Amino acid sequence: MIYGFVVLLASSPLFSFALSNSSQKDSVINNGYKIKTIIVDPGHGVRPEGAKGNFSPGASGSYSFERNVTLAIAFKLQKEIEKELTGVKAVLTRNTEEDVSWPRRAEIANQNKGDLFISLHCNALPPRTIREVVGHKHGKPIYHTETVPNHSGKGVLLLVYGFHRTTEEENAIKSTQIEDDNQMNASVDPNDPAAVILTNEYLRKFRKQSIHLATLINSEFVDTDGRKSEGIREQGVLVLCHSAMPAVLVETGYIDNPDDENYLNSEEGQNEIVASIVRALKNYKDEVEQVSQ
Ligand SMILES: [Zn+2]
Repeated sequence: MIYGFVVLLASSPLFSFALSNSSQKDSVINNGYKIKTIIVDPGHGVRPEGAKGNFSPGASGSYSFERNVTLAIAFKLQKEIEKELTGVKAVLTRNTEEDVSWPRRAEIANQNKGDLFISLHCNALPPRTIREVVGHKHGKPIYHTETVPNHSGKGVLLLVYGFHRTTEEENAIKSTQIEDDNQMNASVDPNDPAAVILTNEYLRKFRKQSIHLATLINSEFVDTDGRKSEGIREQGVLVLCHSAMPAVLVETGYIDNPDDENYLNSEEGQNEIVASIVRALKNYKDEVEQVSQ
């Protein structure tokens, strides 16, 4: 679950095609380039014992937690990547229940010289506010306001790093962002030279490839698994930018939707999600390595 303002990026096949071509052109520069390490990042976790400061427990459904689902999928994804992609190592940013801070996750990605970063999450909707007329007084309606859970979200969503924001959008972010993910969603501080360098580097080197990889993963979910998709969006998720490599955040489904929750917790559902990501990774790898030979 990653709350915040998002920009719709690519939902039409035509746009995906255009991105796919430009991404291939870019990779011609990387002669002899091979993908050797893929970072798998299971979102959230429980607070480490005795730890102070922020941690990110994630969303929950009626019987399961995002942090457990993402870890289960991450273990399966690690195994499948190493089985299906010859010579590729998969490194997890978290392999216990305990949360790892996002800067540490980015550090693990960079220390292991990752070529790609795949972050795994489950989506959830904030509660809905409903207002009902419960009576009248002096001819004017009396309202009763209540917040109720919203189970209407369904399907996948792919996020890549981006930060196109106007002041109006900044205000929108403040009103939609909730609790634990604030830390991951901050905008870039223009007075922090390191952050500015990372952002510029991301835009110059990794943005197109990130969008392309997200497009490939999204197509597998939709075309092969028949999942509903909200498409690909840009959002200021800092772990994606600070991991200096193409990076995609996969919202694997809505844990607060009963159907999606069952799917996310089933062996079948988890295996399907993993298989789709691995097929997309394989296609991406083949494209990048073929062009550079
Ligand atoms: Zn999440």
